[in-house]
Amino acid sequence: MIDPKRLREKMVREQIEARGVDDRRVLDAMRELPRHVFVEEALASKAYTDAPLPIGEGQTISQPYIVALMSQKLRVEPGMKVLEIGTGSGYQAAVLDRMGAEVYTVERIKKLFFAARKRFMDMRLFGIKLKLDDGTMGWPEEAPFDRIIVTAGGPEVPRPLVDQLADPGLLVIPVGSSRRMQKLILVEKRDGQVTETDLGGVAFVDLVGAHGW
Ligand code: SAH
Repeated sequence: MIDPKRLREKMVREQIEARGVDDRRVLDAMRELPRHVFVEEALASKAYTDAPLPIGEGQTISQPYIVALMSQKLRVEPGMKVLEIGTGSGYQAAVLDRMGAEVYTVERIKKLFFAARKRFMDMRLFGIKLKLDDGTMGWPEEAPFDRIIVTAGGPEVPRPLVDQLADPGLLVIPVGSSRRMQKLILVEKRDGQVTETDLGGVAFVDLVGAHGW
């Protein structure tokens, strides 16, 4: 593979900065993190392309631009407590960790959970806390969270996640009845009020939950 550092620089410049992401912490984190370590070896050469990639179990690591966009919309500041639903490869969690957040991440598929945990250990990312569970129920023992990010799409915003959001707090989540109809939604809680903003169309894998929300 060509020098991954150069590929990352090109990825950030052409796919992320060129599309308007300017949060310094997001750009720095994505410049530094070896994205190729989060995909299977056979796909490592494709890790910096402008696309999502398969990570096994029918799941995907999100396109770099989508990771950047969601991270920017979260307006993460160092020390904030951030909950991620859908650990997958662990890449998004690692980006948030690099941005200085205290990261909690939940994955429902055992194989992906253990692979991500091992990856964090190998990379010495000891600060990221993981849980194997249905993330639509959130992580009540650790709530409230300043920020919540859901990296899989469901029909609605799971109620437990809104309840576990701090005030003030921000949550980003893809919402839609089918993958082709998803919108990225920014939920803001402030002074006890909850408002939603549509950030545009996206296509994520399904959020599979108890649907009790
Ligand atoms: N953030 C990931 C993207 C993973 S794809 C990354 O950076 O690689 C979405 C992930 O959400 C999948 O791994 C899927 O298994 C997981 N998922 C779907 N529904 C879930 C649920 N209810 N609770 C926890 N994880 C869930």
